[in-house]
Amino acid sequence: LEFSRVNRSAIREKLSAEQFDVLVIGGGITGAGIALDAVSRGLKTALIEQGDFASGTSSKSTKLVHGGLRYLKQLEFGLVKEVGSERAIVHRLAPHLVVPEKMLLPLYERRGLGYWLTSIGLRIYDFLAGVKSEDQRRMLTRAQTLSAEPLLHTEGVKGGALYAEYRTDDARLTIEIIKTAVSKGATVLNYIKGERFVYRDGRIAGIVATDGTGGLSLEIKSTVVINAGGPWVDLIRAIEKPVTGKRLHHTKGIHIVVPHERFPVRQAIYFDVEDGRMIFAIPRGRTTYIGTTDTNYNGDLNNVVATRDDVDYILHAVNQTFPATALKLEDVESSWAGLRPLIHEEGKTASQLSRKDEIFESEAGLISIAGGKLTGYRKMAERVINLVVKRHFPTASGNTGTGSIALTKASFQNRRDVAEYENRVRARLTNLGLPDMISRYLVENYGQGTDEVLDTFEREPQDTHPDFRLISSEFKFCFSNEMVVHVDDFLERRTGLLYFHIGRARHFAHPLIDLLKNLDPSVDGALEAQRVEQAISSCINFK
Ligand SMILES: Cc1cc2nc3c(=O)[nH]c(=O)nc-3n(C[C@H](O)[C@H](O)[C@H](O)COP(=O)(O)OP(=O)(O)OC[C@H]3O[C@@H](n4cnc5c(N)ncnc54)[C@H](O)[C@@H]3O)c2cc1C
Repeated sequence: LEFSRVNRSAIREKLSAEQFDVLVIGGGITGAGIALDAVSRGLKTALIEQGDFASGTSSKSTKLVHGGLRYLKQLEFGLVKEVGSERAIVHRLAPHLVVPEKMLLPLYERRGLGYWLTSIGLRIYDFLAGVKSEDQRRMLTRAQTLSAEPLLHTEGVKGGALYAEYRTDDARLTIEIIKTAVSKGATVLNYIKGERFVYRDGRIAGIVATDGTGGLSLEIKSTVVINAGGPWVDLIRAIEKPVTGKRLHHTKGIHIVVPHERFPVRQAIYFDVEDGRMIFAIPRGRTTYIGTTDTNYNGDLNNVVATRDDVDYILHAVNQTFPATALKLEDVESSWAGLRPLIHEEGKTASQLSRKDEIFESEAGLISIAGGKLTGYRKMAERVINLVVKRHFPTASGNTGTGSIALTKASFQNRRDVAEYENRVRARLTNLGLPDMISRYLVENYGQGTDEVLDTFEREPQDTHPDFRLISSEFKFCFSNEMVVHVDDFLERRTGLLYFHIGRARHFAHPLIDLLKNLDPSVDGALEAQRVEQAISSCINFK
């Protein structure tokens, strides 16, 4: 069965007909990782997501598979070690999507940790994270730092450091994990909201859910229910009973996107801000994105946007450190805002709260997991499923195998493999009369699925504009393989166009709505148009 909108009713029927071992609520990276771990140990697994996959925090991050440098500052050595080795594993599982990138850290006379402490700190970091020798941190002189990034304000710069990071696309990583879980037999559907629990002998034995695409209600039966609701974790816990003891603390973080030519950083850079925080500026295709903020949040979980104040904070930070840039509000093309589902600790500020994950179990058996990072998704999943296996399925494997399950069908062995494939894609693009510079975007987004996209391109009517033929081919790929239900799923989370090429997203939104209607006549065009408008306006809310 293709993982496609046209098969929704068949998948929904499966969800209500079968008895599952594990049902996961939440299709962010945490839930996706848990579903993959469970199904790969032979457990009968289901996952439901109330919106689109990764529509919560997992499409709103800085998009880095960190080694956890900030944990070093907080002296959480165990965490540095775990996340450090994890990112190497995640890179190996999806080398086209988790890409090594050197991060420049400018160092100042009287700011941050200073030159020598940073040098030692990064050495410890490399050691704990097991960074390969060629990727280990390199300290730079003042002159080297300023020539590495000529836009930097020269005053007070003492030197710099280059250290290893990995960049990714959080939503793509989530959807690849989901697809892998589905290919192993998990039953997964988006736009299905868990509403209330079903009990048997005082224990949770399933949930009642509604399908947001048609309002249908269904009951899903499962021995174990896992709450991976991210920022919604406490709302889901509260369906069972009022939350007592440890609870979530939401902090908001935003990113802004500007054309790369307006902020032409030569490489990713992590710089200090006056208030003691640090901000990333990361080049990506035709843009540079910058973030993040960290402020307490008590508003609507379903409508988190960047405000004018948030954007001004980041513009100010950039203009202080890179004065020649003189970024203005008008330069900001798009933005996104997300919530960190952190665990509340009395008396700590937003930035001081630990990023560690925690598992809560209720008397009736609900298992909830919150906190954490993209980087730790596999370990979080392992801990949860170890617990589930121990309690309920003693014959299932006590060890996870996800460390060697490649994410995507035809996967790459390493970066060299990716580079060779990208060369072939480049040649193919030239033959097709398309600009070869889009090869990177295509390969990072679709991996070896790029060939399928280009096969479709070749079959599209020749008289359509090549640009539309290309985006239609991408859309068809996502429609058939990635459960695109609405056009904004594609524009925001399958391609990132709403963030990184908002003009293109706007330009093609309506033609893509028509295409979706052709692919599935049940599509409501007016609803699609309204959703796209809403998605665009939340990216430019601050304007
Ligand atoms: C600004 C910012 C920057 C960050 N940067 C990084 C970074 O660079 N690197 C890194 O490693 N981490 C980063 N993080 C952390 C990381 O993004 C999060 O830890 C991670 O995405 C959380 O994933 P999740 O699956 O737990 O939550 P979510 O992605 O929010 O997933 C939870 C899902 O549950 C669904 N759900 C809720 N209720 C229900 C229900 N009743 N029924 C069905 N579904 C439901 C929601 O719709 C949602 O999609 C960042 C976080 C923020 C906010």
